[in-house]
Amino acid sequence: MTRITTTRLADGRELIYFDDAGSTDRHPDSLVDRRELPGRAEPGEVRYDALSGEWVAVAAHRQTRTHLPPADQCPICPTTNANPSEIPAPDYDVVVFENRFPSLGPVNGLIPQQPGWGTTAPASGRCEVVAFTPGHTGSFSALGWPRARTVIDAWAHRTEALSSLPGIQQVFPFENRGPEIGVTLHHPHGQIYAYPYIPPRSAAIASAAGVHWDASGGTQSLSSALLAAERNDGRRMVLEGEHFSAYVPFAARWPLEVHLVPHRQVPDFAALTGAERDELAHVYPELLTRLDALYPTETPYIAAWHQAPVGPALRRAGHLHLQLTSPRRAADKLKFLAGSEAAVGAFINDTTPESVAERLRAVAAVGTAASSPEGAPA
Ligand SMILES: [Zn+2]
Repeated sequence: MTRITTTRLADGRELIYFDDAGSTDRHPDSLVDRRELPGRAEPGEVRYDALSGEWVAVAAHRQTRTHLPPADQCPICPTTNANPSEIPAPDYDVVVFENRFPSLGPVNGLIPQQPGWGTTAPASGRCEVVAFTPGHTGSFSALGWPRARTVIDAWAHRTEALSSLPGIQQVFPFENRGPEIGVTLHHPHGQIYAYPYIPPRSAAIASAAGVHWDASGGTQSLSSALLAAERNDGRRMVLEGEHFSAYVPFAARWPLEVHLVPHRQVPDFAALTGAERDELAHVYPELLTRLDALYPTETPYIAAWHQAPVGPALRRAGHLHLQLTSPRRAADKLKFLAGSEAAVGAFINDTTPESVAERLRAVAAVGTAASSPEGAPA
């Protein structure tokens, strides 16, 4: 079992250690942040965009946040005398803590439910940082099975905890990898945003899921139907496991795009069984490894974990899945979101999903998790 220890940083932010199975108790020094920190910044605000019906978070205080610090000043490396970092411990496995420069929070509560032009509210919600490893370099794909498994437990724990905060509508774990994506810290890490509203694309996905769910008489999720269709067709499948399968979606938007879906309809990480988490800790790093094997250099990506909205109305049809996307369309070329995509949301993909799937199958490591589950520790 992953060992969980909760503490507070000097300014009151929550920090939680997730130590790999078999770890011993945390030394008390790990629990005390000896820095002197100023009090937490006031929350930003959310403003209602009456033109589109969407909320926009205004967080001007984030302009001063840490940007690509040198390795010896990394805020998520373990603390040393020379670098009193955000993490008080001299070592750790996985750590989650509240972002010092959050777009949402530190307040919680409902935002106005019938907004119009001019509606604002404090930016309630929460933004957390997930440090995947104490090592400053590397990537999720290289964590190894035990550590990846611990991260999955951390995602599950935080999903459950954040979903229970007042006013939270959507919990979104994600990783931005690579400076091309706008990463401001090199240290391998991800983030979790807990929103007081359902973000636009999440709302579109939830709406489509609800329509399919109702049409099936509440017997099948849309993701289950899509997975069945992709497996039946076969041309875009990337890997198939016992509990998870991955495919390039029929209408992929990005030059590189893979969806990883649990076979069982589960709303979020917290609902995954131990066996499902065990396999996920193999197949997810395997996908990332294949993405990096396509080109001589590391591929920037966004790993977006779509979970069911918190509210019961949309939750029943939800089905956890990963949307792994990259703007990379050649070894030395990135796709930029320009007029059609950025202005009106109409994607134009320069690659065919079938050819991308074929490439991702071709670079499969010998003996992937999906084909050799005996590699998984019990
Ligand atoms: Zn670091």
